[in-house]
Amino acid sequence: MNSTFKADLHCHTTCSDGTETPEAVIRLAKHLSLQGLSITDHDTIAAYETALSFAKEVDLLLVPGVEFSAWHREEPVHVLGYAYSLESESINSFCLRHRQRRKERNRGIIHRLNKLGIQITLEEVEAHHEGTIGRPHIALILMKKGIVSSVKEAFQRYLAEGKPGYEPGERFSVEETIECIHQGKGFAILAHPQLIQRSTTVRNMQDMPFDGLEGYYASMSSDIEKKWIDIAKEKNWIITGGSDFHGDIKPQNHLGSSWVNEETFHIFYDHFRSHTSF
Ligand code: AMP
Ligand code: ZN
Ligand code: FE
Ligand code: FE
Repeated sequence: MNSTFKADLHCHTTCSDGTETPEAVIRLAKHLSLQGLSITDHDTIAAYETALSFAKEVDLLLVPGVEFSAWHREEPVHVLGYAYSLESESINSFCLRHRQRRKERNRGIIHRLNKLGIQITLEEVEAHHEGTIGRPHIALILMKKGIVSSVKEAFQRYLAEGKPGYEPGERFSVEETIECIHQGKGFAILAHPQLIQRSTTVRNMQDMPFDGLEGYYASMSSDIEKKWIDIAKEKNWIITGGSDFHGDIKPQNHLGSSWVNEETFHIFYDHFRSHTSF
């Protein structure tokens, strides 16, 4: 095994709420001497329209990924999907349903902000961003208008759960999300479990048919990491890792700061290659 091999399995691009294009993230991964990568945009696989051939050109191993927003009862839970088939009807139609969900949810958020006396339109937000639109894009417009001075402040005052501009939107369950990834021949991984708040969610997630969990995440403290790594080992789940890089909008998450080794990467990469000729 190549002991210098590192693959970051969690990052975002301009296809969702990252600030760098898929090509720029791939170039950065190369520059940082990563050998493998998965781009995991929120609720979209649009990066893979160009990313696989670009990665091949620069000799970086890229495996399809996605980060779906799901809910368990009252708590948001993110589910990573890896090595699925890009042609999968199940994955592609799920992304479409998420696009519709986000559109309606964003309308709701804008409506709430309007009621608070803030003049902002959905068209305005859409004009600034082509990819999947989320709360960070609304935060940027609030900043541009001088209503808040940072994205963080926009979340603290308006957009975070429980704040006056918050709107949960339609909720897809964790079960349905895992099922959709499995139908698309992918692996379903519980994203950043260290961020789960409710103890019932912590317990219930361990009974879900996940294939693994994200044990190494951003700058998580090592005792919290250890608790989840022990759970994964006991369940014989795959342990993944990634930085959740978003570019400038989340400057503390550096690409490559969390990663998996060659052996783990090849579980995903070899599976992808086994059902897709590329
Ligand atoms: P959405 O997908 O529209 O629900 O937005 C979620 C994204 O917003 C996450 O990926 C984070 O990058 C970002 N986010 C969530 N909470 C905060 C916060 N309190 N401050 C800054 N960014 C946040
Ligand atoms: Zn994000
Ligand atoms: Fe997430
Ligand atoms: Fe993420």
